Amino acid sequence: MKITEILAAGPSWSFEFFPPRTEAARAALGTALAELEPLRPSFVSVTYGAGGSTRELTHEIVVGIHRDTSLTPMAHLTCVGHRRAELTEIVTRYRDAGIRNILALGGDPPRDVELPPGELTYAVELVRLVREVGDFSIGVAAHPEPHPRSASKADDRLHTAEKLAEADFAITQFFFDAAHYFDLVEGLRAHGVSKPVIPGIMPATSIGSIRRMAELQGSEFPRRLAAKLEAVADDPEAVFRVGVDEATELCRELLAGGAPGLHFYTLNRSRATRIIYEALGLAPEGVPGPAPAERP
Ligand SMILES: Cc1cc2nc3c(=O)[nH]c(=O)nc-3n(C[C@H](O)[C@H](O)[C@H](O)COP(=O)(O)OP(=O)(O)OC[C@H]3O[C@@H](n4cnc5c(N)ncnc54)[C@H](O)[C@@H]3O)c2cc1C
Repeated sequence: MKITEILAAGPSWSFEFFPPRTEAARAALGTALAELEPLRPSFVSVTYGAGGSTRELTHEIVVGIHRDTSLTPMAHLTCVGHRRAELTEIVTRYRDAGIRNILALGGDPPRDVELPPGELTYAVELVRLVREVGDFSIGVAAHPEPHPRSASKADDRLHTAEKLAEADFAITQFFFDAAHYFDLVEGLRAHGVSKPVIPGIMPATSIGSIRRMAELQGSEFPRRLAAKLEAVADDPEAVFRVGVDEATELCRELLAGGAPGLHFYTLNRSRATRIIYEALGLAPEGVPGPAPAERP
């Protein structure tokens, strides 16, 4: 099913996974998918290693989800380091495998690998390429706190609006303060954009790794949240509880303010997403919530 049709019917609830590199990680992804499938998300997505490091693996996981589960998959694809012909081949294989949804991204060149020069500079060019290959629903990234490489917030909003004029919907980078999301939506509206912008949710269930990720992609890690987490830093379960509670409140605020759905960065684990899902009353009837031992 195309995500455009899903979004036209109402809010969407989606989960993001990354391709596993070891057997243990593959098993963890299998468990997360099996535990999250009963929640009947609107769609799930699988990330892509910029430059092609997960080229086959992303394809395999996306096509496997399409073939073996009831879930609607979306493949992430980045243009950095790829030639036009390679991208056309990747997208054609998805089309021929029955995949209808692609998230078209710029991608960050990995720090430790020298990539060959790519032929596309910006994600909007990948949106056009995907459109030429087939009848896809095409998503793009949006950055509530402007993208770290952009000249200014105004510049980033303008380029995101131009990109969204050609794509079907956007999913945002994660953030911890709803004001950043509403500012993005308002900025895009000022450029005439009315397409859905789905907020990306990353529960801060561990301090170090989330702080590092936030630094890398330019997300503010609010002092208030850091203080709450640091107050219980010695107790991983308490940190988890704070992160999940805060994310749940953020989701409530976003939905109350008109967000057209939620996209959860699951990190290939299901527990936080299942707890938040239940707290928001999103779990389908008859699906048991997290077991008592899993509840924080
Ligand atoms: C939901 C989501 C999923 C993601 N999944 C992945 C993934 O699977 N793999 C991965 O490697 N990365 C992923 N990323 C990260 C993403 O690749 C990086 O944030 C990347 O640096 C920017 O991607 P973009 O698609 O926003 O790029 P672009 O839209 O190309 O924008 C990049 C920068 O260029 C600027 N810009 C855009 N157009 C122009 C123009 N015409 N002229 C001048 N400047 C311009 C923008 O303002 C921005 O600063 C994801 C991000 C999000 C939000």
